[in-house]
Amino acid sequence: MISIKHKDFLFTSIKDYIIPAEKVAHVQVGNNAEHALLVLTKTGYSSIPVLDAEDKLQGLLSMRTVTDSILGLAHIEYERLREISVDQLMRAELDTLKTTDTFQKGFDYLIDLPFICVVEDDGTFSGILTRRVILKQLKKYIYNVH
Ligand code: AMP
Repeated sequence: MISIKHKDFLFTSIKDYIIPAEKVAHVQVGNNAEHALLVLTKTGYSSIPVLDAEDKLQGLLSMRTVTDSILGLAHIEYERLREISVDQLMRAELDTLKTTDTFQKGFDYLIDLPFICVVEDDGTFSGILTRRVILKQLKKYIYNVH
């Protein structure tokens, strides 16, 4: 049960706190794992969205899945990176938010996830909501509430 006092905060829309799509590092379906490994390594993110040619969200790709895919029994099979496609490695079953969703909904997801993707009704990728952004807003709110 939510205390009435906190309702305004929890029911704030996530809209203004989304990192917009154009600032989010991503890969495209059809890219190979070598390209994905470069993007993940250069950005330092452990997981990034996978988009199609229409900018629709297709899945999430993690560094761990990429490295896992080239682990042989005795050595790392680097040469396989070019043969494997991002869509073979991505996780396609995802929870997502809409821009009209509330902080409350964001909280519920971001307890377990470092970030969650935000999509339009037609699946177009709008950006991400990160745990860091939510925590910053929560901190601001707590410090101002008596
Ligand atoms: P942060 O809130 O910066 O700690 O980010 C948490 C996670 O969100 C990162 O590990 C990435 O997986 C993802 N993330 C944050 N910012 C971006 C971005 N600009 N592009 C792609 N992924 C991001």
